[in-house]
Amino acid sequence: MGKVLIIGAGAVASVAAHKCCQNSDVFDEVVIASRTLSKCDALKKSIEDKNPETKSKITTAQIDANDVDALVKLLEIEKPDVCLHLALPYQDLTIMEACLKTQTPYVDTANFESLDDPYFNYEPQWALHQKFVDRNTMALLGSGFDPGVTGVFVAYAMKHHFDEIETIDILDCNAGDHGYPFATNFNPEINIREVTADGEYWENGDWKKTKPLEVKRVYDFPEIGERDMYLMYHEELESIAKNVPNLKCARFFMTFGESYLRHLFALKDVGMTSIEPIEFQGQKIVPLQFLKAVLPDPSTLGSRTKGKTNIGCIFTGKKDGKSKTYYIYNVCDHESSFREVGSQAVAYTTGVPAMIGASMVMQKIWNRAGVFNVENFDPDPFMEELNRWGLPWKESFNPMLVE
Ligand code: NDP
Repeated sequence: MGKVLIIGAGAVASVAAHKCCQNSDVFDEVVIASRTLSKCDALKKSIEDKNPETKSKITTAQIDANDVDALVKLLEIEKPDVCLHLALPYQDLTIMEACLKTQTPYVDTANFESLDDPYFNYEPQWALHQKFVDRNTMALLGSGFDPGVTGVFVAYAMKHHFDEIETIDILDCNAGDHGYPFATNFNPEINIREVTADGEYWENGDWKKTKPLEVKRVYDFPEIGERDMYLMYHEELESIAKNVPNLKCARFFMTFGESYLRHLFALKDVGMTSIEPIEFQGQKIVPLQFLKAVLPDPSTLGSRTKGKTNIGCIFTGKKDGKSKTYYIYNVCDHESSFREVGSQAVAYTTGVPAMIGASMVMQKIWNRAGVFNVENFDPDPFMEELNRWGLPWKESFNPMLVE
């Protein structure tokens, strides 16, 4: 059917590229382009080893995604039907600009963040909406798991289960154990910036702030058991608060183990998570970037991680005048993800929906000029693809609520 250009060759890109090559009917050509060409070539080899039958033609290229001119050149040479950005959130705007210039449909998994400000937000990307309309091109933002599948779950609940949604709690549990006292499951810099930021949630038409990890709850997760979880600000809250009418409350909780938090706070207390550059032996270094260099590379965690993830949404609201609760979630197993594509479940749960988002755009099942989030589209075809490509979802109509 068509060609996808994947930018990035890290943990998430690796899963998405494997999945695109399993889905050869849609992606008959896959170009993997990233800053380090050798990583693209290694990924190509891994796909060919694991999936020798693939009909997708795989090629690789080197690209600095901060360089708009280089991106435009690459897009003009490759002429992909969709550009799937799986590098870092810092590159959202440069890649969107290059896609605008070349009228290439754009898909990503994380909203924009600048290197010197740890605050991610959709505004700079939404601001490009009219330009994408004028160029008759589409941008699909946040097609990972959270954001991504959580937004599709919201659209699905609105379409099939509620006349009015009143509250949404998004619960993200990773019960995986990699055996290290401290390591992050995806890019450490992005992960630590996210976790050490203030908490924030939507209540009665306004944003309420908390101190970092100030609000703790315990939840009994299906197929996992009881875990401590903490209220955090998370990307999809911004678009969900905008896209769900009359929403009274939207919160996001993520589980963290004791060892992870003990190390994180010690590192924070000694200044190792700071993004302010410091002078060290005549050189400027950013402590968080240095910390990233000494931590285990997330892409190496897969082979040692055991256990499951459970990510889902609990809704309350009204249907036919009656109060209703509804819980929808996916459980993903680290070891079976690793056996299938050589990555643990955190990358798997992001890479699979990234592939599905790109396939929705490639096949024009989701097709509107402008800049959109996943909850702006019909959720049903995406939900079917989740079941088909390894992230089946489950429902409960009587879930335990979070107080
Ligand atoms: P990794 O750090 O594993 O991979 C990032 C990749 O991007 C690397 O291959 C890196 O290249 C490449 N890259 C970085 N800078 C550039 C550049 N300037 N030009 C070209 N390539 C570049 O990250 P992950 O795979 O863990 O995460 C990828 C994205 O997915 C991130 O944006 C993250 O926020 C998002 N994410 C979204 C989730 C969701 O559910 N929505 C969940 C988890 C992650 P190099 O190898 O040379 O460093």
